Amino acid sequence: MSEIKNTISFIREIYQTQDFMPLHEPRFVGNEKKYLLDTIDSTFVSSVGAYVDKFEDMMQDITKTKKAIAVVNGTSGIQVALRLVGVKTGDEVLTQALTFVATANAIAYNGAKPVFLDVGLDTMGLSPGAIQNFLEEYGDIREDGCYNKKTGNRISACLPMHTFGFPVRIDEIIRICNFWKIPVVEDAAESLGSEFKGQPTGSFGEVGVFSFNGNKIVTSGGGGAIVTNNAALGIKAKYLTTTAKKPHAYEYVHDELGYNYRMPNLNAALACAQLEKLSWFLEKKRELAKKYEEFFKGANAKFRTGLPETKANYWLMCVELDNRNTRDEFLKGTNEAKVMTRPIWELMFRLPMYENCLKDEQVNAKFLVDRIVNIPSSVVI
Ligand SMILES: *Cc1c(COP(=O)(O)O)cnc(C)c1O
Repeated sequence: MSEIKNTISFIREIYQTQDFMPLHEPRFVGNEKKYLLDTIDSTFVSSVGAYVDKFEDMMQDITKTKKAIAVVNGTSGIQVALRLVGVKTGDEVLTQALTFVATANAIAYNGAKPVFLDVGLDTMGLSPGAIQNFLEEYGDIREDGCYNKKTGNRISACLPMHTFGFPVRIDEIIRICNFWKIPVVEDAAESLGSEFKGQPTGSFGEVGVFSFNGNKIVTSGGGGAIVTNNAALGIKAKYLTTTAKKPHAYEYVHDELGYNYRMPNLNAALACAQLEKLSWFLEKKRELAKKYEEFFKGANAKFRTGLPETKANYWLMCVELDNRNTRDEFLKGTNEAKVMTRPIWELMFRLPMYENCLKDEQVNAKFLVDRIVNIPSSVVI
């Protein structure tokens, strides 16, 4: 109990406040107001405008990809990304059960079924070993891709998620999936600015998707970005997310089922101002992570860090408690003291809409779900 008290005072000291302390707050320290007023002055607040183009250029630079497409939120971005790599009704998509619900929902929106595979204990993201084991047992490589021998369904994508900004072993995942002819889509919603062996997350798979929701490392209010190095997929992504309209001077011709998933210029303006400050955000996040790491040394609550070959963005920081009881005590003590902490998400196969999905043993996911707690992670100003 005294450790919990010490933790509370340490966090209060960091943020220099006795008030309620949220898990994650946005910070606006750059050109946010200026750019937002620009959009109003120009009247271009909606689905076209200079900030949308600028945002896409900035995202290409930041993620070192050939094409970035602004979308209305991260969830719709993942939905479209899966369709782009060929996911169709009745297919199976390999992913992790330890994730935010949007990952699984984006699969279901395509009429496909998530297959929940275990995460690594160290990364908290999809485990290459779990993918390998599953495919050795069920995978069947055919002319047009990989099939599940038992169900007969096509396994048309693999969707790993970089939990809280800690990169998964994406190189191994890509290697295994290439062998089995399964395209990889990265749910990089939480990992803007994170790197694996010096390369930005989101740029490894056929397609990567980021979120700019209000609680992410930087925000556009609401928004997302699809990124890819495949030029044809990039063009298709823009097309599908802008109602699949054929270019014409005045006629409306739509030749496919498209979506109105464009990011409004108003949101793009906010995103541009935030992205200009991304390296500042990353620096401040990593500084805070260092402080936490130092503080929790030798404590019962273990501060989580990423793999040595990665650089996490430390979007949401977390500690690992000894067991579910100590976790519950930690959650109760901190929240009662108005220091917001939260357990990690419920495992997807425990939610009613996903309870009948295929899954493996989930040893690591079950271990982590009982122990991981997020702690206040906003940038200190
Ligand atoms: C935030 C998030 C999303 C969805 O992003 P939205 O912009 O909120 O739709 C998807 N996957 C994960 C893992 C997320 O954390």
